[in-house]
Amino acid sequence: MKKKFIWQVWVNLWTAFNLKVTRNLKVTRNIMITNDLEAHMGKRGGKMRKHLVLIGGGHAHMMTLENIGKFVEKGFKITVIGPSFYHYYSGMGPGMLGGTYTPKDIRFATQDVVQKQGGIFVKDRAIRIDPVKKQIYTKTGHTFSYDVVSFNAGSYVPMQAVRGKNDNIYSVKPIEKLMEAADKLKQLFSQKKISISIVGGGPSAAEVAGNVWQLAKKVNQYMPDIHIFAGNKFMARFPESIRVRVLSSLCKRDIQIFETGYVKNIKQDEICLETGEIFPTDFIFMALGVKPSTLFEESGLPVGPDKGLLVNKYLQCEKYPEIFGGGDCIYFKDQPLDKVGVYAVRQNPVLLHNLMAALEGKNLEVFDPGPEYLLIFNIGGGVGVLKKKGLVFKGKIAFMIKNYIDQKFMKKFQAIEKVL
Ligand SMILES: Cc1cc2nc3c(=O)[nH]c(=O)nc-3n(C[C@H](O)[C@H](O)[C@H](O)COP(=O)(O)OP(=O)(O)OC[C@H]3O[C@@H](n4cnc5c(N)ncnc54)[C@H](O)[C@@H]3O)c2cc1C
Repeated sequence: MKKKFIWQVWVNLWTAFNLKVTRNLKVTRNIMITNDLEAHMGKRGGKMRKHLVLIGGGHAHMMTLENIGKFVEKGFKITVIGPSFYHYYSGMGPGMLGGTYTPKDIRFATQDVVQKQGGIFVKDRAIRIDPVKKQIYTKTGHTFSYDVVSFNAGSYVPMQAVRGKNDNIYSVKPIEKLMEAADKLKQLFSQKKISISIVGGGPSAAEVAGNVWQLAKKVNQYMPDIHIFAGNKFMARFPESIRVRVLSSLCKRDIQIFETGYVKNIKQDEICLETGEIFPTDFIFMALGVKPSTLFEESGLPVGPDKGLLVNKYLQCEKYPEIFGGGDCIYFKDQPLDKVGVYAVRQNPVLLHNLMAALEGKNLEVFDPGPEYLLIFNIGGGVGVLKKKGLVFKGKIAFMIKNYIDQKFMKKFQAIEKVL
């Protein structure tokens, strides 16, 4: 009798639980379907919703992406357009090439973060803007109208010098290219001795060279010959104290640095200098200085001397005030900024505030680029070169500081994926 009673209670509880779950699922599903339809139609409660479009989910959009739910709660529609479901953190790109990090360690799940908060993610690439019609045109032929738009479309490595086939030529941006290169190099290092050329004389050339060396050490079979073609002077933009430290570290590992002239053209098996010298090669990295996306000039928008979107102290285009931008793709009118992730990261709170304010008709905040930033290069082998104001040093501690800062940044933004 007692057993039957307990069994009956158990059955009733189970049925009630199932009914509740089914009902909740139906309700959730209905809400999702309604949200989806409304999201695509840009309507809520029959009214047209204001539409914020984010082009690129780069470093300057991180906080806006984190807060998409708040925009949606306030009744705004948000669409994020980007060519990849993930965004890779460039500061850790060379470390990923060298095998210190896996691709998963250094990426944010942009699509996931957007969709879980009620935004729309479109895997595509913006190719043109009509600022008068307030429309964005994409590579796959779609058109998106906006009320407010923000660009964080980054920069690219110029490849004009490349002639013919480019199977063995990898640019250092987008970071996905370094991922491909690492896979290919691991195979090659286990098969034969190869010659690797890095074209470019700046920090990304140094970081790539040092981390290719580290990768070969890890594979531990055939060590490659590594050459950097650095134009007339390697790390010319930097103080001698940094230049010497980076140079000595790379030279100790038999990485050869050529400072005898600029590269004229590049074929997949040879590097030709302006001096007429020709160097045979098996694998090439293009690490020339990056340029802002060509999107703005091609769309007739106001641009700076580097062709980046010209923005004022509010990170806003003056001629078309509903257009904003951050990161490598902008030219900050008040003061030209280095193309470093540090500035993109510092622009986050201002962009978040100003995009919301532009939608709500409130006051904008001013972007202050802030004090001189901490510079740390990861030159492979667990070694870093650090500079902050007058302080410059090289070694394991410098790398450990960079690793700590980068991991902290990643944890902060990857945590959003887990919380949602
Ligand atoms: C090898 C290397 C190492 C570096 N290391 C450091 C470092 O340690 N510290 C540092 O501060 N800086 C570093 N930098 C500089 C840093 O990469 C850039 O300053 C930083 O990436 C700029 O961020 P961003 O968000 O503007 O651009 P990106 O990181 O390039 O992001 C742009 C985003 O926009 C997307 N996108 C591009 N085009 C379109 C389009 N047409 N439509 C839609 N979406 C688009 C891209 O997919 C990408 O997700 C390094 C650069 C390189 C190349």
